[in-house]
Formats: sequence, C-alpha cells, structure tokens
Amino acid sequence: MVAMKLLSLHDTLSRKRQEVLPSDGKVFRFYCCGPTVYGPAHIGNFRTFLVQDLLRRVVELSGIETCHVRNITDVDDKTIRESQSAGISLADFTAGWTARFHDDARALNILKPHVEPGAVQHIPEQITLIETLLASGHAYCSGDGSVYFKVSSYAPYGRLSRLDTRELRAGAGESANDADEYDKDNVSDFVLWKTRKPVDGENYWESPWGEGRPGWHLECSAMGMKYLGESFDLHAGGVDLCFPHHENEIAQSEAATGKTFARHWFHNEHLMVDGSKMSKSLGNLYTLADIMERGFGPGELRYALLAGSCRTKINFSMERLQEAQGNLQRLAAFIAKLGGSLPAYDELCRLAAAGSLDTGPFLPVWEALLEDLNTPAALGQLFTVLKPLEKALAAGSLKEEEMDAARTGLAVIVQAFGWIIPEVADEAGNAADVPVEIAQMAEQRWAAKQEKNWQESDRLRDELAVAGWTIKDTADGYEVEPSRQ
Ligand code: AMP
Ligand code: ZN
Repeated sequence: MVAMKLLSLHDTLSRKRQEVLPSDGKVFRFYCCGPTVYGPAHIGNFRTFLVQDLLRRVVELSGIETCHVRNITDVDDKTIRESQSAGISLADFTAGWTARFHDDARALNILKPHVEPGAVQHIPEQITLIETLLASGHAYCSGDGSVYFKVSSYAPYGRLSRLDTRELRAGAGESANDADEYDKDNVSDFVLWKTRKPVDGENYWESPWGEGRPGWHLECSAMGMKYLGESFDLHAGGVDLCFPHHENEIAQSEAATGKTFARHWFHNEHLMVDGSKMSKSLGNLYTLADIMERGFGPGELRYALLAGSCRTKINFSMERLQEAQGNLQRLAAFIAKLGGSLPAYDELCRLAAAGSLDTGPFLPVWEALLEDLNTPAALGQLFTVLKPLEKALAAGSLKEEEMDAARTGLAVIVQAFGWIIPEVADEAGNAADVPVEIAQMAEQRWAAKQEKNWQESDRLRDELAVAGWTIKDTADGYEVEPSRQ
C-alpha cells in the first residue's frame, strides 16, 4: 500500500533526513522560488522545476493534498535592464517571457502551481513587511531613501548556509550592498527597499521612504507568507539560492513574525555543461527549443533531467537524451503490450487518499522515490522489476489480475516521474499522419521564418511542440513529425 510509507528528504537546515508531512495534518504547503523572466528559462532552471514537480507528485501520490506556490520574479536589476535594452515596458517584456515559460513548462508536463504570484503585483505586501521590520529594529533607513535589513539584529543568521560568521556579518550601514545579487565575499546588510535611481526609468513605486522598488529577497517572504501562512511546510530552490537568498528570506521573515518560516528546506543540485553550471551569465545554456531543434522532444528531456539524483550535479549531454529515448520506448512498448489503459494521475491520487492504492510489483521503485527522491535507485529497481514482467507478457503467462496490478503499479511510477510516454508506431513502423491543423501551423511557421519573423516562428514551433510535433529544417524546406518523446 502506497500510503503506509511517506517521503523523507534531506533537510538543508537540520542536515538530516526527515519525513515531510503537512503540519496541519491535511495540506502540504510548499514554496518554490520561480523564474526570473528576462529571457527563456534554460534547461538547468527546468531541472530545478522538474525536481520540484517530482516532489509534489510523490507527495500527492502518497495521498496528501498540496498547496504549491511558485513565484514569478518580474522586477529586479536584470528584468529592468533587459526590458530597457529591448525598448519595451517592463510589464510587456516580462509578460512575454512568462508566457514562454508557461509554454515550456506545459510541454514538459510540469503541474501548474496552485498560486503563481508575481512581485510587481505584491508591492504593498512587501512594504508592510518592511514597516514591521523597521518598527522592531531589524531594519534601518539609509540616507538615500533605501532600507536595509540589519543582519546583526538577527542572531540565528547563517544557520542555513553555515558560512563563517565573519563572512556573514561583514559590513553594514554605509557599505551596505544594494545589488539584487552578490557573492559571499561581499556580504553585508541586505537591501529591503532600493531608492529610485535614474537607471530604473519608469520602474519605481511610492513608499513611506520615497520612490523606489523592493529588493529581490523580499518578494519570496512576502508572497510565501501571504499564500501559505507565516509558517509553512517546505521551501525549495536550486543550491545557488541557499545563500544569500534563502538565508535572507529566513532572517527577514522570522525577525518579522517570531515564527519558523519554513519547516523544511530542500535544495537540488545544478545541471552542468562541461563542468560549469549552466547559466545565463556564462552563456552556456540550452533551452527546450534548442533541444527540439536537435530532434528530441520534451519527453526525453524530462526523463533525462530526472534520471540523475537531485543531490548530485549532472553534466548535460545529447547521449543522455538518446538514453532517455531508448528507455521511454521500452516503457511504451511494455505498456502497449499490457493493453488496456493505465489509471490517470487524479484517479491514482484519489485512491492514495483513500488508502487503497497498491503499487504491486513496483513497490521497490516507489520506495526508492520515497527515500529522498532517489531517482537513480528507482530506475534501477524499475528495470529489474520490468524484465521478468516483459518476459512473462511475451510468453502470454501473465494472469489477468497480474496484468491489472502491473497497470496500476506502473501508472504510479509513470505519474510520479510525470513521464510523457510516446506513441508506439504501428506494426509496419509507420508514423502517424500529419493532421491538417498541424500541417497549417508548420506552413505558417515556415512562412514566418522566411520573413525573418523569429518571434512568430519560435512561437509556432513551441505551439507545435505542445501539440506533440517537431519541426526539422532540411536543405530545401522542413519536415514535421511526431516528437520523439
Ligand atoms: P532564476 O530564473 O535564475 O531565478 O532561477 C530559477 C531556478 O533555477 C532557481 O531555483 C535556481 O536555483 C535554478 N537554477 C539556475 N541555474 C540552474 C542550473 N544550472 N541547474 C539547476 N538549477 C538551476
Ligand atoms: Zn525566492
């Protein structure tokens, strides 16, 4: 029975493996730092969002309801700078990249968060939080109309990242750092409210301290507490966010409320390219569109990014996608031979909530996921379990009830990983016919490309991807085919 054992995770704060349970016994409330929308999210960002999606699916398939909040950072130094270079308003600029993020996330089968708040829509909440911190002496105004958090006023500062206390407390007041991002060598009191500067252009708001905008760290505290309560179950992000972002979130939230901000902290490791972190600033990134241009689909990317342990760095390569493709095809062939249909996600969650979901022969796979989302161990178990089942199926020796148990058990694993199972080609190996609307979209995308309207051609290619079709440019035109997911 799935419901008997629950997910346990390594907690960054306590450095211990802990069972993650809803503190109210009902709804597991968790917050994930979302994308900064100043360009397309790269597949490193998506590794993080996929791991968080896996986490949510495992909790829900354990029969526990969740409330998942993931923000959109739509104002900071980078969004302002890039919107100005593009010559469009910050709101229009971030709306475009937010839409692209949603398209990619949908193609990757990432569940939509229950709440997706944006920083710009929550300026009053951020101002209120600063007022509370000022009133209790945890913040101070600087001469220029900015407000800073006083790190020395919050004794437990540094618990999460456990950096040397001298590094954490260095600098204050005049030397305080107002950049949204800075590294640990330059740590100081951090900015809560940034006074308006000429480079901000039209992007400023009124506050009791004059015109300006909130510092980057503040939005997650204000929005997390608004939608999940002053104290909630888990907070997640990539390891780079541990310090200073999450350390600062803890300080400003707990100093304001006197309560534990998040009970658990979950950080996953990075996606690397040739030994370096994939990042916009290094320019070594791939987007979902880049992967598709190389003939792979979002299904293969999803499989590959979740195949490595969330605790270890993974180096990205096309071989990983090829391997994913082979494994997905093997699963697809097994499911097709099994016949019937696998129960859907919602149905499995309902069964789990009622305590009557049985993973049958796939129990070892499920249990590996419950142990700190250990996906490599789960995949190892999966193919061990699958081998004799494939043989029995081919020999026609599986009984009807064994087939049923395999359908439900495998469905739990497929849904936990959120895999997109490809269509199996017919016996002659023919791919599906291209439907008329897909052919039309492909034609429009080709026309847009000829006119060098890259935005429109990218949009159409992404729309085709969401519909499950890939376009490949050839020497004399293009080909459209079902995505190899
Ligand atoms: P950003 O859009 O930069 O605010 O980042 C969104 C999320 O992606 C954060 O949780 C980051 O920690 C995460 N992230 C950034 N780069 C990588 C990477 N190379 N691998 C995994 N996660 C990443
Ligand atoms: Zn955050």
